[in-house]
Amino acid sequence: MTNLTCNAHCCTYNKDNLCSRGDILVTGTGANHPSQTECDSFIGAGRDCYCNSSSSGKESISIACEAINCVHNQDRNCSANHVGINGSKAHSSSETECSSFQMR
Ligand code: SF4
Repeated sequence: MTNLTCNAHCCTYNKDNLCSRGDILVTGTGANHPSQTECDSFIGAGRDCYCNSSSSGKESISIACEAINCVHNQDRNCSANHVGINGSKAHSSSETECSSFQMR
């Protein structure tokens, strides 16, 4: 499990910089830079960016990750202690990124 903070405030799962899902998927199979990754679990919360999830934000989360060039990737799971998802202006998955990606 990884401590995750996320500033994608227009995601329906975002609650005060935490994710209210129990798990997420990060994509970026050929990524060699954070900008080439994205949070595939992002779902736009509409124009008012209202969180539609009834679950509370979770400090610890399971992350499946396809960014196999990242030093934290172990068998397509994230082994980092802390991960930050960036997407403060995101309205789609493609506008998010894993800022903790580090090239092997
Ligand atoms: S830190 Fe690396 S392994 Fe973990 S989610 Fe981000 S890109 Fe994937």
